[in-house]
Amino acid sequence: MIFHRTSFPLLALIFSAGVCLPPTIAHAQDWQVKQGELLRATISPPPGTDRLHAHAFGKTWPSELQANGQTLAWIGIDLDTKPGSHPLRWSSSERSNMWSQEDSILVSDGEFKKSYITVEKKMSVFDAKALARIRADQAAFKRAYQTKVEALPDISFATRPTTGVISSPFGARRFVNNQPRNPHSGIDIAAGEGTPIVAPLAGRVLLAESMFLNGNAIAIGHGRGLVTIYTHMQDLQVQQGQWVGTGERIGAVGKTGRVTGAHLHWGVRFQGARINPLTLISRNSQEHKP
Ligand SMILES: [Zn+2]
Repeated sequence: MIFHRTSFPLLALIFSAGVCLPPTIAHAQDWQVKQGELLRATISPPPGTDRLHAHAFGKTWPSELQANGQTLAWIGIDLDTKPGSHPLRWSSSERSNMWSQEDSILVSDGEFKKSYITVEKKMSVFDAKALARIRADQAAFKRAYQTKVEALPDISFATRPTTGVISSPFGARRFVNNQPRNPHSGIDIAAGEGTPIVAPLAGRVLLAESMFLNGNAIAIGHGRGLVTIYTHMQDLQVQQGQWVGTGERIGAVGKTGRVTGAHLHWGVRFQGARINPLTLISRNSQEHKP
């Protein structure tokens, strides 16, 4: 047998890595989801493979082996994800039995509301001191989003954190004096001042601070990259580092920071993706749509 000289190093590399067969590419599935939703995708791993890993949007998403032998993966579809088809790649970790499947995530428009408000210029422009506080507050949230919490929860909530009506929906595109602002990355629940707020899922308090725009704000890390935030609260009733249980009181509805009335702003970050907290309340898995 004659090998071209340059073939030897490549072959040596392939055999030393223990990869004797090319990866098997199985039949693909399409998953339909909207901007700002949580996708619960499932797959039946082939015999001989353990839990599969799900890769999409440049990240590896949490996955878990179910009692029925399927792998369930939770994938957050950020509210600004481009509508259209995005790849979802499943892979096994066994080096000797490499297996992967390419699915598609078909993201459709979230059909978010648009709101236009006009305010006096001095109400929408901040001085240097205020801007410095706003930036420091944003940095504190960013640190919280990136803090690891050692817990392996289901990515779902038992309840809403408080009672009341939704006064501003998730994803609303806001324009102030016709200038586009950041989309609404949570939901606002209007309720009377002092209405109790509870943790919808157990976790560690990553941040508990009085902020310039957000008023009394907390962030809770639940594990697996899931973080929830609560702002404009009446006061701070928990401390950074404290562990809170599901359903435990974490504060009360207030009107601190820049608000027009008492409400709770409730937001979710899942591995950095801004998703609608309400999509985590339903425990129903999405059906596979061929
Ligand atoms: Zn809000």
